[in-house]
Amino acid sequence: MSSLDSASQSDLLKAVLNTAVDGIIAIDRRGRICLFNKASELLFGYEAEEVFGKNVHILMPEPYRSQHDSYIANYQATGEEKIIGIGREVEGRRKDGSTFPMYLSVGEVTDRAELAYVGIVRDITAQRENFRALEDACVRAEIANQAKSEFLSRMSHELRTPLNAVLGFAQILSLSEPGVLSPEKENEYFEAIISSGNHLLGLIEDVLDLSKIEHGQVEVSIAPVDLLRTLRQSITMVQPVLSRYRISIVDDALSNAPMPLVHADEVRLRQCIMNLLSNGAKYNKPGGKIIIKCEITPAGRARLIIEDTGIGIPRERLSELFKPFTRVSKREEVEGSGIGLAITRQFVEQMDGKVSVVSKEGVGSRFALELPLVAGTQTFAGTGLRR
Ligand code: ADP
Repeated sequence: MSSLDSASQSDLLKAVLNTAVDGIIAIDRRGRICLFNKASELLFGYEAEEVFGKNVHILMPEPYRSQHDSYIANYQATGEEKIIGIGREVEGRRKDGSTFPMYLSVGEVTDRAELAYVGIVRDITAQRENFRALEDACVRAEIANQAKSEFLSRMSHELRTPLNAVLGFAQILSLSEPGVLSPEKENEYFEAIISSGNHLLGLIEDVLDLSKIEHGQVEVSIAPVDLLRTLRQSITMVQPVLSRYRISIVDDALSNAPMPLVHADEVRLRQCIMNLLSNGAKYNKPGGKIIIKCEITPAGRARLIIEDTGIGIPRERLSELFKPFTRVSKREEVEGSGIGLAITRQFVEQMDGKVSVVSKEGVGSRFALELPLVAGTQTFAGTGLRR
């Protein structure tokens, strides 16, 4: 093994033991520690002097500690290997009682009476953590993959419906002998084709929007925005929907409310508010109301509340609302794709805001949109003046 004389060999061995990165521990046939190198001291927090002559099981937590002596006895009687001759992951116990995962490989000493086994131990906490992080990443990737598949299958279903209508009506028109269909019927079918086509186009645009946002390709340009003015513009723009469902806006509370400047992208914010308003109309009862309030949260953010007197959302389905293509309302005659809220949430989060909902079936829903306030623009109610 070595060409050195025995004194030099002993020095060399000492140097090896003391510089080894892994812990090296030797025990006698009764399990008593007779060698404990520097790395072992660092690993277990014991000085070598403290452990010499003690049973090696002090370095193990329960249940290994209690099993250890019987394990050695069993090995000596039967030769059955569990650790000896091989290696495996076990738990180590430090002097302070804390435990850590370690890889232990044990070799048997056969040619010396005072020595029985030599164990090499390595702290594998970091590997365990890396492994766990890898496992977590795999689980997250799997969930994301499933969500993508679900999204694709919902999307193809949503696209197929209007496409089938286009093809179906076009086929009827092309196969009908001239004069068989009345001009009114023909018109009706043409209109169905156009409206299904438009619906399809809207859907595709929404899906593209959503995928662009998800891939970070939609930039929001954040600037101070007058929340109340944006709200007024949004109300004007959704007027046709409000009229169609005979919905009135109740905004008395705004005359006493703060009118904050918020950090937002004005165009995107208008799109979000319009979506919440038009949902408040679509999923309302005929002749229902949309009540609008605005407040400053204790955390100093602006909160716009859009509440309706509509059909509400079952509690167990609230968490699904912001998933693309999820439609939970029973008003199936109402047009929609189930993408609006998903887009709203993405935009609001890009603006460092938050959108939340509470709802009661048959009573109504309350959507709240929170945005960061521009510092120093806390406002006087009603007057539109700012401090
Ligand atoms: P869309 O209105 O196009 O279906 P959204 O993403 O805007 O899509 O909304 C998703 C679903 O959430 C709607 O289909 C509806 O079932 C439900 N929803 C949204 N807003 C309301 C509301 N104010 N009241 C009741 N249900 C609502």
